[in-house]
Amino acid sequence: MKARRRPAGRRGAPRPATLIPGDGIGPEVTDAAVRVIAAAGGRIAWDVQIAGKAAFEKVGTAIPDALVASIRRTRVGLKGPLETQIGRVGYRSVNVALRKTFDLYANVRPIKSLPGVRTAFSGVDLIVVRENTEDLYSGIEHQIAPGVVESVKVITARASRRIARFAFDLARREKRRKIVAIHKANIMKLSDGLFLSCAREVAKKHPRTRYGELIVDNACLQLVRRPQDFDVLLLENLYGDIVSDLCAGLVGGLGVVPGANLGTRYAIFEAVHGTAPDIAGKNMANPLAAILSGVMLLRHVGQRRPADRIDRAVTRLLRERRTRTRDLGGTATTSAVADRLIALL
Ligand code: NAD
Repeated sequence: MKARRRPAGRRGAPRPATLIPGDGIGPEVTDAAVRVIAAAGGRIAWDVQIAGKAAFEKVGTAIPDALVASIRRTRVGLKGPLETQIGRVGYRSVNVALRKTFDLYANVRPIKSLPGVRTAFSGVDLIVVRENTEDLYSGIEHQIAPGVVESVKVITARASRRIARFAFDLARREKRRKIVAIHKANIMKLSDGLFLSCAREVAKKHPRTRYGELIVDNACLQLVRRPQDFDVLLLENLYGDIVSDLCAGLVGGLGVVPGANLGTRYAIFEAVHGTAPDIAGKNMANPLAAILSGVMLLRHVGQRRPADRIDRAVTRLLRERRTRTRDLGGTATTSAVADRLIALL
């Protein structure tokens, strides 16, 4: 059945947003997201911009001025993954640079068991809140002698308080019961110690939300034993990155976990996964993570109805167990998943 559409004029002009197709599987999964959003009645005017490897090869820079200008104008973006070349000095992560440029200090990744997706656990429903601007991702590394290098872990009270406040505000808004700060302050007493003391300080101001702490190694163990016990996780940048992938594994893998990079002025939505070079260009990638990132974008810009429609269609698609990509045990292509979702809409 086709979605009934009201005339566009009555609902105002489409909301401008920047679309970064990205590298690897990025163009395939973002194309699916754009098609599904349009079919659901999302009113978005996409401004398509290149970044990462694609931009580096075409215009000699991974973050072209046009991309920065576009995000400054639209303030919101949907982004495919960008390739960062491992170990190549002088080519800093474009993702890190984008997050810094737009001060997207909060990385939010909802991890939820999906209907019809068989995994070791059911009933998982947690949110990873990751500090996005500092820590070992500051990119400060140097060789102090041949065979000896240092990577600098930067933790500031300002950024730690800011992300803790964000997590508690999110918990209140989303009616979450408990926040667990995850750390290694037993070893990194100064840096993780500062992060923790800021989290405690903020926690005191939010007595209605329970607050706890776990050392990161123990947190990983508890997460793979009883993930249902967790609600909101508050982490520094590196632990947040690693624990996000672990959490994705609890609910069906990287193909189904969306994400948002949020700041006070700008927001860029993107799946947790990377460019998946092993399956890029083969129409095999699961587009659901990108599509669900698009759902987060729609809610962010106040378009709840198309967002809810897509959510319902994804639930139906997964319950049908017919059209799913290989990572979820099926044989469907990326575009077939998008086509089926559009049909369900
Ligand atoms: P990856 O997430 O690209 O892939 C890990 C595994 O998950 C692979 O086996 C891949 O096939 C699978 N996978 C990922 N997404 C999938 C999907 N949608 N459907 C089905 N299977 C999927 O991680 P990687 O291989 O470690 O990284 C590859 C590149 O991506 C690197 O250059 C890295 O820097 C970059 N990266 C970018 C981002 C980003 O732009 N936000 C995030 C992570 C990694």
